[in-house]
Amino acid sequence: MPSDPFDYDLLCIGSGPAGQRGAVQAAKLGKRVALIERRGTLGGACVDTGTIPSKTFREAVLWTRGAHARASAMIPARPTAAELLDRVAMVVARERSVIAGQLSRNHVEVFCGDAAFQDPHTIVVRSREGVRECTAANILIATGTETTATPGVTPDGEVILTSDDVTQMKTLPRTLAVVGAGVVGVEYASMFAALGVEVTVVDRRDRPLEFLDAEIVDELIHQMRKQTVAFRFGEAVERLEVSEGPPRRAVLWLESGKRIVADVALFSVGRQGATARLGLAAAGLAADERGRLTVDAAFRTTVPHIFAAGDVIGYPSLAATSSEQGRLAACHAMGAAATPMAAHFPIGIYSVPEISMVGQNEQQLTAARVPYEVGVARYREIARGQIVGDDSGFFKMLFHRETRRLLGVHIIGTGATELLHIGQAVLGLGGGLDYFLTTVFNYPTLAECYKVAALNAANKLAV
Ligand SMILES: Cc1cc2nc3c(=O)[nH]c(=O)nc-3n(C[C@H](O)[C@H](O)[C@H](O)COP(=O)(O)OP(=O)(O)OC[C@H]3O[C@@H](n4cnc5c(N)ncnc54)[C@H](O)[C@@H]3O)c2cc1C
Repeated sequence: MPSDPFDYDLLCIGSGPAGQRGAVQAAKLGKRVALIERRGTLGGACVDTGTIPSKTFREAVLWTRGAHARASAMIPARPTAAELLDRVAMVVARERSVIAGQLSRNHVEVFCGDAAFQDPHTIVVRSREGVRECTAANILIATGTETTATPGVTPDGEVILTSDDVTQMKTLPRTLAVVGAGVVGVEYASMFAALGVEVTVVDRRDRPLEFLDAEIVDELIHQMRKQTVAFRFGEAVERLEVSEGPPRRAVLWLESGKRIVADVALFSVGRQGATARLGLAAAGLAADERGRLTVDAAFRTTVPHIFAAGDVIGYPSLAATSSEQGRLAACHAMGAAATPMAAHFPIGIYSVPEISMVGQNEQQLTAARVPYEVGVARYREIARGQIVGDDSGFFKMLFHRETRRLLGVHIIGTGATELLHIGQAVLGLGGGLDYFLTTVFNYPTLAECYKVAALNAANKLAV
């Protein structure tokens, strides 16, 4: 369809990583692009409430913990929420201005308001300033996700929180109940535990984070228990209440009849695709029961000129993959050549301790009957591990027994999310054991784990 009858070649809904990258990519192809964002600020959940604030908070937690360990006489054992969250606002503001600059340099028009379909090519944008209509030849839905409703009570941002509220909290609680042991729940549970907060995690499953290598999850649970986190697995929360007080406290009623009382409850049981208010039916689209949209390999929905990318299409729901999906969707929409995203993307979990993985894990390889050997390294045997004071870090690589190709890398410990990229590159290039055996790494670095784990695997394969 010629684009001339329309106001824009591409209209992106949402300014998170997917919408942003999609808009910039189309603009770089010389197209007329606009982006609509319902929040007053740019960056999506990634910059506003998710990735960036939570990782800045984590850094503050680690700094406080480290500083306290080094100079306990000078640093308060229990920082205030304001002290911890000070940098969050600053980093978020910087990120927002980087995004605004990028969009403006690339001549992407930005509209503030709530977007909804009027028909397959027309979007209505409603804001306090009024209502505006825009038409586009192609539309990219990059609306991300929203928190799930809490049973029995509305989050008040003080006693009952969702992950959207954590980095706005006014007071650091002494006790915290986390409902849901997904990535976000586990990350925050471990961060608060590292601050000395007494944390209880409740999850209806028997094990958390099933997509991770089981040994790594066992190590995480062990480390978190050492930080006095109590896990209540196989328990579901029936409803939440806030006690009258003072002080007002969160009361969790479990289906088993148990009751947990905490200063604050963080409800984090997954997120829903943000599609409820998009008027999808007017475009001939429908979302699944969790608000997500289905797309093909080109990120095209069932309506050929409407694309979707990022968390709104579900797994893997990461900032980096959302960004790349948005870029690829824009290329496909504009008819530009696009190489698909590489198969091996990394997963990072910023718990304390940090976890990262790429490729397959032992459960998957066993189920697929792939013959593999494991090579492990422990940070306490690595000079850099001693230097940084991490004696519990654990690193493992999985190699095909016959071809010796690398199949997966799984790390828990300091710097895991950075360290992983060496393994990711080798995996992506089809390399294997011999690369690590013959390569020399800087010393002393955590990268030495690659060498030690490779030698360990080679020794086992030689038997
Ligand atoms: C607490 C937390 C921590 C996280 N940590 C990490 C991490 O460490 N690493 C990582 O890779 N990922 C992390 N994530 C996930 C990451 O934030 C998401 O994968 C990423 O933000 C998804 O990008 P997106 O563009 O799809 O959507 P979002 O970033 O969610 O952006 C969507 C935007 O669309 C807007 N919007 C929605 N509906 C409309 C509408 N109708 N009209 C106009 N605008 C609309 C929303 O306001 C929002 O700004 C975390 C998420 C959370 C919640």
